[in-house]
Amino acid sequence: LVRLRARLARSQSTFGQGLLSLLSADKLDDDAWDEIEDTLITADVGVTAASQIVDNLRTKVKVQGGRTPEEVRGMLREELIAQIDPRLDRAVRTDPHGDRPAVLMIVGVNGTGKTTTTGKLGRVLVGDGRSVVLGAADTFRAAAADQLETWGSRVGAPVVRKDEGADPASVAFDAVARGMDEGADTVIIDTAGRLHTKTGLMDELGKVKRVVEKKSQVDEVLLVLDATTGQNGLRQARVFAEAVNITGIVLTKLDGTAKGGIIIQVQRELGVPVKLVGLGEGPDDLAPFDAEAFVDAILG
Ligand code: GDP
Repeated sequence: LVRLRARLARSQSTFGQGLLSLLSADKLDDDAWDEIEDTLITADVGVTAASQIVDNLRTKVKVQGGRTPEEVRGMLREELIAQIDPRLDRAVRTDPHGDRPAVLMIVGVNGTGKTTTTGKLGRVLVGDGRSVVLGAADTFRAAAADQLETWGSRVGAPVVRKDEGADPASVAFDAVARGMDEGADTVIIDTAGRLHTKTGLMDELGKVKRVVEKKSQVDEVLLVLDATTGQNGLRQARVFAEAVNITGIVLTKLDGTAKGGIIIQVQRELGVPVKLVGLGEGPDDLAPFDAEAFVDAILG
């Protein structure tokens, strides 16, 4: 939480503090509530969730009457946590099944932070004493495999790669085979993020998944989403969600935006929990997402 708070301090807290000061105003008239709603929308909470939050807060204020700063903070905290839904299962499934490793697919548009997330996640697992194999199934750019190799040597995980243009599914197959040979716990497959056509994407990700399932099973399909891209990112995310069955979201670059409300919108739109958040470019800048800790970090 301390790290989360420090990382979010510069960006998210402007959102939390802004809301708190609006809510603490002496007079909460219609204009004030409109301004609160606008602040929520500006932070990418989404129009539906924003109006829900405002309606609920209005009711609470009416019912509870006298508002000390602590009460205001408490009401806002409760409301934001409820919107983020603390009951969602956010555990990333990385445990092997007998002699078969857990297999995770990392999907998303290029530039969102897939390769970085693959590396960071490998680092977390290796740090926990797990053995990990990374698969460079983004075969469209040699640079992507190079980048993953750099991560692999940094975190101590072998990287399976092939020549540029090779079939991504065959890389995934080989990565799982290597994981089985080595008795690895977890295989993480970094996929290509070209957003060409929906059918193309569906075919490619579907094939990777089917091929993995010949040897093992896919435990997680994590969609990486750049928090700074707002509505555009959300549109792209929908295409992926239609192409493949997403099991969780990794929201990256939260360190670089005041629009943390995107978490609420993304979960609502895609119907899957944010499981991990990216808080920087470094190897340790990946954190499990926790609704309460997040809200506490933004409310300061
Ligand atoms: P990919 O094309 O989806 O594999 O994206 P990359 O992993 O290559 O990341 C694209 C850029 O975003 C790189 O410069 C990363 O260092 C940067 N990046 C990834 N995750 C984060 C994050 O959580 N915070 C910040 N600030 N930068 C990030």
